[in-house]
Amino acid sequence: MNLILLGPPGAGKGTQAQRLEKTRGLIQLSTGDMLRALVKSGSPLGQRADAIMKAGQLVPDDVMVEMISNRIDQPDCKQGFILDGFPRTVVQAEALDTMLSEKGLKLDHVIEMQVDDAALTERIVGRFTCAKCGAGYHDRFKRPAVDGTCDVCGSHEFTRRADDNAETVSKRLVAYHKQTAPILPYYAARGVLKTVDGMADIDEVAQQIEAVLG
Ligand code: AMP
Repeated sequence: MNLILLGPPGAGKGTQAQRLEKTRGLIQLSTGDMLRALVKSGSPLGQRADAIMKAGQLVPDDVMVEMISNRIDQPDCKQGFILDGFPRTVVQAEALDTMLSEKGLKLDHVIEMQVDDAALTERIVGRFTCAKCGAGYHDRFKRPAVDGTCDVCGSHEFTRRADDNAETVSKRLVAYHKQTAPILPYYAARGVLKTVDGMADIDEVAQQIEAVLG
């Protein structure tokens, strides 16, 4: 099964994708994570991506399409994948359609996670992750059981994303509404779009997604 989780930054796509990896054995393909790895590598392309991401803008479509196409070709994706953060423009959505049909693959579900804009900034600005195992936390909504210690692996090191500050978040939201939201009618017209309430708590959202997947 191959699916897309769509929604603005902070909608909970990553959280739900990680759950689906566990419950359904699907592979999470997060283009944001791929780009952050590229930035860490320090390559010229990584340096270019870093500047774009810090400005809250979108990395060019051709770069993203090639990145996701190469990733889908890897053997672990045969078990099914969840696209998290891709496509983000209509051009990417069209390229994905072409790419999947060339690879003999198809999209089974496109799930939109609907969230109020007002909630997003607080959700994003407060989030942090364990530097060792990547477990996600939040200053207000999900603190570690013991302050400063990861619940999952016991590490004491945590990181915050460079683009998770109020100023960049507002630019990322503008980019979402202008460039990404037009994807919704694109998939609605194909009859594959389902919507879940991203404002509900994490377990409830997971149940709504399970109901869509059947
Ligand atoms: P995310 O982790 O999905 O919030 O992505 C972080 C940042 O990476 C975004 O604000 C964009 O700058 C960039 N990015 C991630 N995915 C894409 C994409 N599909 N197209 C363009 N830029 C992307």
